[in-house]
Amino acid sequence: MLKKIVIFLALICSVTCSGHGPSVFLSNENKAIYKTSKCDSDKPFPQMVLIPFFENASQIVPNCRTYPKHQTALAFFIFYHKWTEYFGDRNYAVKGMLEKVMIQWDTNKKVSKRGYNLKGEPFKNHNIIGRVETDSMTWVWQGYDHKISQSALFHELVHLSLRAKYGSGDSDHEGLKYRGWTAAHTVMIIEAKQMLRAFGL
Ligand SMILES: [Zn+2]
Repeated sequence: MLKKIVIFLALICSVTCSGHGPSVFLSNENKAIYKTSKCDSDKPFPQMVLIPFFENASQIVPNCRTYPKHQTALAFFIFYHKWTEYFGDRNYAVKGMLEKVMIQWDTNKKVSKRGYNLKGEPFKNHNIIGRVETDSMTWVWQGYDHKISQSALFHELVHLSLRAKYGSGDSDHEGLKYRGWTAAHTVMIIEAKQMLRAFGL
């Protein structure tokens, strides 16, 4: 009887445990594409480059330093690691977002007509360093000292993750007008940036 139970459990496990968990990105089919998709400093800019390990994710770069594709990929890994640590990703909505998102890097900041700061206070005609454009696209200024950890990438990825999970990105952050963004999201971003800095990015 015990033997039968063990075999039964092993069978169930081979069905339910053989799939890759939400944090596995490395087993995708697009590797050949990544090889040919690279930044070429002799060609005109901006250029679009696929982000390796993340299926159809891509970035539009204003030069080859902003940013090498494997640096962006590492930032994605760290973001997802932190996101799942804090919030999980049961239906893989955030993973799915990361596998199709397009990051548009810019060397210049923009001015936004209106928006909200982190505390939810509205502003008008303010310099901004990132903005979600669609469910799968965000514009991001390259960041202080030309470091991804000093850019708004993770901030914008939180907006996109909230959109993927709840259908709304919560534009007023910790403010009470829209729901989704909590103090935990702000802390998660800080910790993810610290991790990125440990890798020199
Ligand atoms: Zn925001």
